[in-house]
Amino acid sequence: MKHSVPSPPLEAVYRALLGEFGPQHWWPGRTRLEICVGAILTQNTAWTNVERAIRSLRHARALNLETLHAAPLAQLAEWIRPAGCFNVKARRLRAFTALVADRFGGELDKLLALPAAELRPMLLAVHGIGPETADNIVLYAAQQPVFVVDAYARRFLHRHGWMGLRATYNEVAELFTARLPPDAQLFNEYHALIVALGKTYCRPRPLCDKCPLAAAGMKPEQRNLKRET
Ligand code: SF4
Repeated sequence: MKHSVPSPPLEAVYRALLGEFGPQHWWPGRTRLEICVGAILTQNTAWTNVERAIRSLRHARALNLETLHAAPLAQLAEWIRPAGCFNVKARRLRAFTALVADRFGGELDKLLALPAAELRPMLLAVHGIGPETADNIVLYAAQQPVFVVDAYARRFLHRHGWMGLRATYNEVAELFTARLPPDAQLFNEYHALIVALGKTYCRPRPLCDKCPLAAAGMKPEQRNLKRET
């Protein structure tokens, strides 16, 4: 049986986070291709490792679709080695470049011009691209309003009793998309602020006494603080 949980006060959360951290200016990438590459490489690794892998690609003059698609897989894996799981991620990158090369004549802009309702399932059909990666690409590279759900979002939502432990990816995303205007810039900033919250205060060991949500009167559920999501 499903238990209902209270809805998060989305505007109050946003105000508190924006007041604390200010605008985040995401995604950290110079081009749309770099954003897509970063979104694929960031799976299961810290962003600093992704930055090193991107620098390695740039140094090799490989940060363009033609080279990424034509290079031998072993070479691609070597370039992105700092991102970890480099053989797996090289295959994922290659699957993504194959989509662009084979179906869009190598023109990334054509893929990203698809409406989110077409783009998202197309990305999800690519080997190794799951909902979070697909949504990072749709939101940050294609600038279309989908909400990115990550472990940071799940953690603070659950700790406050705003999300059940078994909520699916889509259920968590709908907490935001059903109650916020479909504004890519808003979703961009909101997601980036949640990441800042998760890295600064809502860590595995939470720092509630310093956190802007607690300061704004949003107290976590004590019993949920003891359980990892
Ligand atoms: S008050 Fe505590 S549980 Fe809530 S978001 Fe802040 S650190 Fe996390």
